[in-house]
Amino acid sequence: MQQKPVRQHPLAPHDVLVTDYLVYWAAAKPETPAITFTDHSVDRAGISRTVTYAELDGWTGAVAEEIARLVRPGGRAAVLCPQGIEYVVAFLGALRAGVVCVPLFPPELPGHRDRLLAALTDCRPDCVVATTRTTGVQAGELPHDAAVVFVDLFADRDGSRFVGGGPQSFDDLAYLQYTSGSTRAPAGVRLTHRNLVANARQIVEAFELPHGETTAVSWLPLFHDMGLLLGGPGAIVCGAHVHLMDPLAFLMKPRRWIEAMTWRPNVISAAPNFAYGYAAKRLEDADLAAADLSGVRALLNGAEPVRPRTVRAFLERCAPAGLRPEVCSPCYGLAEATVFVARSPVSEPPSLRTFDAADRQLGRLRTAGPDVLTVELASCGSAVGQQLEIVDPMTRHLLPDGDIGEIWVHGPNVAAGYWEQGEATAATFDGTLASAPEGLPAHGWLRTGDLGAVVDGELYVTGRRKDLIIVDGRNIYPQDLEAALESVDPVIAAHRSAAFAAPGPDGERVIVVAERRRDARDAAARHDAITIAARALLSRDMALTLHELVLVEPDTIPRTTSGKIARLRTRDAYLNGTLARVV
Ligand code: ATP
Ligand code: MG
Repeated sequence: MQQKPVRQHPLAPHDVLVTDYLVYWAAAKPETPAITFTDHSVDRAGISRTVTYAELDGWTGAVAEEIARLVRPGGRAAVLCPQGIEYVVAFLGALRAGVVCVPLFPPELPGHRDRLLAALTDCRPDCVVATTRTTGVQAGELPHDAAVVFVDLFADRDGSRFVGGGPQSFDDLAYLQYTSGSTRAPAGVRLTHRNLVANARQIVEAFELPHGETTAVSWLPLFHDMGLLLGGPGAIVCGAHVHLMDPLAFLMKPRRWIEAMTWRPNVISAAPNFAYGYAAKRLEDADLAAADLSGVRALLNGAEPVRPRTVRAFLERCAPAGLRPEVCSPCYGLAEATVFVARSPVSEPPSLRTFDAADRQLGRLRTAGPDVLTVELASCGSAVGQQLEIVDPMTRHLLPDGDIGEIWVHGPNVAAGYWEQGEATAATFDGTLASAPEGLPAHGWLRTGDLGAVVDGELYVTGRRKDLIIVDGRNIYPQDLEAALESVDPVIAAHRSAAFAAPGPDGERVIVVAERRRDARDAAARHDAITIAARALLSRDMALTLHELVLVEPDTIPRTTSGKIARLRTRDAYLNGTLARVV
């Protein structure tokens, strides 16, 4: 048999790229499945297609060769593929070519065209990587003069011998990850090859994923940081078999997610909290009777606040299918740290702890005494392969256990900064501790903008600094108000409200905008009654005056491409009078 050429790249021998892992697995187990994509758009039962590690290597190499032919090293290739195997091939192909990948989404994705155009204008790609099914690109609808590579046209080519291109340094940029855009226009985070492989390895270590025997199941969008790492590099590093489906396939029938995890070994999957609640509600007894989740090793719950109630509901719902509570792992992370930061270990059930609610408003997490209002939070465990500290954002001093402050992170997975945003980069990526004790670096901390506390060695995330509502010196977390109001009346849709403060003549006023449930036709007539009930609840449980409850039409609260509520944009719409109120 002909020997494969040894990869000639100028990196130090210990610097292993994610694409080197692919080449390794392709040699070690060429015929083993690497990625299966099940497409439910044509046939509801789903049509699956699988590529082996050898095929993935060959296809990726062929795409890399084409990208390297079109784009100079360090140029940018925007991925506009739909969810599927091609997406992962495009991402890895760009990395292997040594160009900066920008994982985006196709122009067909409903409702997010402006986002796409903004990102394309920001990153100015030299090349667009799409499929022949990306009709918007095919029709030349995008305002760019970049070259186009259609990944599917290379599916049968064997580029496994391609050794050209590639990064010159481990610190070269691998890709730009746009943030979700929950609090601002999405920012491009500059991630290096070192960041990527470090975070992929941290994930493998954090969940003790067995090399060559892991199954990754994901319907998360590949353009989102969590979906990308789970469906691409994270899985490749440990030689997993990835099962992908479209987010819509999950939303239409959540049982497809459960089915994909059934009977498979060492499954890792992930979803934001809302999806667990949605699945718990929509799954039927028959779905669970046919399922076996005993092979699940880790079910990550992250990207937005983890609601203990939702964790319990999902665990209860899936217990008959053999889901073990310890595999449910609340996680914390952000694009500025590649994605993954901290997790609750998969050897223990999630720690759902009750704290004194009034204390938390004053900036402390303490165990509640009897007869006081409490708040329940899910622990995100501890950081893996990186350092995490709670810091007073004003004085930059470390805070003691239990005190709420800004979460600061330091590690090989922390990004190089934002794309062409010098000021924001300095403000976010060069956190300096006022005094660093022995063993902790003084400089180079990522200031996450998130608030939280460490209690008994475990991280509890309380919310975002930017979203905090401050009333009479008390810190009110919008997600508490949103969760509380959902229980006031069935007219209010779950996970579809936004709470914020707006200036009034006598200080900040608390406003909640809530979408009516799609099937709630009498919402307008009930508005006054719901407002009275909401005011009573917030006054009783939080000693808070609700200024206004605005009921709006379904799907009108601004959300990110990953489905997160954009509270500040909702606030702008409220102040500009552009909300689609229920009348
Ligand atoms: P943008 O930065 O553009 O406003 P974003 O912060 O939502 O958007 P991401 O990097 O995709 O963009 O998301 C990371 C953020 O998600 C974290 O900074 C945090 O606010 C939130 N998050 C992640 N995990 C958790 C968690 N377990 N609990 C609460 N919030 C979380
Ligand atoms: Mg952010």
